[in-house]
Amino acid sequence: MTVKEAIQSAAQYLGERNLRAPRQDAELLVASILEQDRTFLYTYPERRLSPSQKQLFHQWLAKRGEHYPLQYLRGRQEFYGRQFWVRPGVFIPRPETELVLETALALLRESRSKQLFAADIGTGSGCIAITLAREEPRVLVTATDISGDALQVAHRNAELHRCLDRIEFRAGPTLEPLKGRHSYYHLIVSNPPYVSHLEKKSVDISVNRYEPSEAVFAGKSGQEVYRRLFCEAKSVLRPQGKLVVELGCDGKESVSRLARKNGWVLNDSKKDLAGRDRCAIFHQG
Ligand code: SAM
Ligand code: GLN
Repeated sequence: MTVKEAIQSAAQYLGERNLRAPRQDAELLVASILEQDRTFLYTYPERRLSPSQKQLFHQWLAKRGEHYPLQYLRGRQEFYGRQFWVRPGVFIPRPETELVLETALALLRESRSKQLFAADIGTGSGCIAITLAREEPRVLVTATDISGDALQVAHRNAELHRCLDRIEFRAGPTLEPLKGRHSYYHLIVSNPPYVSHLEKKSVDISVNRYEPSEAVFAGKSGQEVYRRLFCEAKSVLRPQGKLVVELGCDGKESVSRLARKNGWVLNDSKKDLAGRDRCAIFHQG
């Protein structure tokens, strides 16, 4: 089987199983098996798959046909130019979260302090915490999660990206792991779960079936974790400190309202590439 044939048959197979972007998936799948990027596929369409590559191709194709995330098959996902290890049980980093990271990074860079303290609440694979540590040498990051699996993976990713010495990992819900640190952090960033349980049906099959539900869903309103963040973050932030959060579709108004009720002021918001409000910055009122 050639590269071109593999892509064509995979695209057809995945299309029949209602994957959203079968051609793109097919290309990524074949490229991953060959351990090449997608341009290789166009340069060498007649290259033949070895017997072991062919076997892997059939195994992965069958899994992907069940909407199993390719990232779990490959064991990794790129975020802000770096590879992060992921596995089932841990949320896969999304490209739109890069906007949240960039916003947090820009805020830290504005500061003149020699040392900066930031917290990433619900760190998952550690993609935000680790990128902050790698991109801003002055920052020390506290990365928290309720999931032990996530913390294990984040720890391993920090090791891979050589910044274990600048990240501390703590287990527990929202700000609980930071208790006692009064006026300590310059910045708190979070991509919390924000999808309502009532919207479960509209969520992508592969997310619903295979990603950890506590990473995606947050109660009936989808606001449970935001609520806790707004209630608890004040005591650990410095007076001029900022709280940066990712927003879901149409989240800006409702999340800002909740923030206002808890004494926060919306400082700014950012739109993602699709033109949706994706990130909000709050400060204390
Ligand atoms: N920060 C990662 C990213 O952007 O890819 C992961 C984000 S994922 C949407 C949300 C993460 O928050 C999950 O890892 C989940 O386990 C964690 N989480 C859910 N509820 C939490 C809570 N109450 N306190 C702390 N972490 C929580
Ligand atoms: N946007 C995510 C998704 O693709 C949900 C992430 C979240 O709740 N933070 O399902």
